[in-house]
Amino acid sequence: MKNLWIAYTLLSCFGWMNELGAQQGKKPLQTIIIDPGHGGIDPGAPGMKSTEAQVALQVSLKLGDTIAKAWPDMKLVFTRTTDVLPGNKPTKDAALKYRADLANESGGDLFIAIHLNAAGHKPGGWYERRVVNKILKTRIVKKGKKTYKKPYYEYEYENVWVPNKAKGTETYVWATNKNDDKVRSMNKITDYSGEIDSTTTLELPDPSDPSEKARMLIYAQNYFRKSLNLADLVQQEFTAAGRVDRGVKQRNDKGIWVLQATGMPSILIEIGFISNQEEEEYMNSESGQAEIVANIFTAIKNYKEKLELRNKPAAAVNEEAPKAF
Ligand SMILES: [Zn+2]
Repeated sequence: MKNLWIAYTLLSCFGWMNELGAQQGKKPLQTIIIDPGHGGIDPGAPGMKSTEAQVALQVSLKLGDTIAKAWPDMKLVFTRTTDVLPGNKPTKDAALKYRADLANESGGDLFIAIHLNAAGHKPGGWYERRVVNKILKTRIVKKGKKTYKKPYYEYEYENVWVPNKAKGTETYVWATNKNDDKVRSMNKITDYSGEIDSTTTLELPDPSDPSEKARMLIYAQNYFRKSLNLADLVQQEFTAAGRVDRGVKQRNDKGIWVLQATGMPSILIEIGFISNQEEEEYMNSESGQAEIVANIFTAIKNYKEKLELRNKPAAAVNEEAPKAF
């Protein structure tokens, strides 16, 4: 709890500094950190023909290209550009810390992590032994001196292919809810799905709940709302492109730790399920990657425009109350 309050305080300071920057005419979005998930010894979720680390890197690099072309002045920082753990670190945790440190030291205004989702037993699908036919038969049963005909069924089995059907996109923001009991109880009823190293999945807290409202208000003053807004814009673009919308979500766990360790608005995008054969094909294809990149870029562009509109001098004067964005 103590750490949480330190985080609140720090983030409030950052928020205040951002406001100050805005009033001095600083562009609100100058540095974007792009964080391709996993890498090297950590391949992330496996597909049938690719890994999460590979596809996340391809899409991240293309997103960087698109941003660089559209906004040549934008400073772009990648946590990795090849198939290694960021910073060539030896462990996943060391790499995770490197991701956050690099983002913070680079003075990022926005942190975007790109990941692929996974669900089910195996990528693509799996064989399951199922009854496909039952035949009524009889056998002779002896009881004392009498014999009876006893009916019974003979079952025919077949190995049936069960496709791995989970699909769609979801975008995570840092969970402000740290109620462990709630996390545990919700986790019990959650089917396995999501980041391969994730342990918990939470839906967004109900903003009409007074205690949630109070908690969220603290973040509303700095990064949480911005993160939420961008996450929502990303999901809108994916939906418009015909993807299955699994929504904006929150998660309290190690896998999302990087979101809370970065002192800037931060989101983690699950661009699709690598465990779903159709989505794996899509995410490996040129046209699929181009569409995903265009969707994310449009969302960032809309986010950037909103920030710039808000930071115009007339709107920036003496605004201290939380805003709708
Ligand atoms: Zn991942």
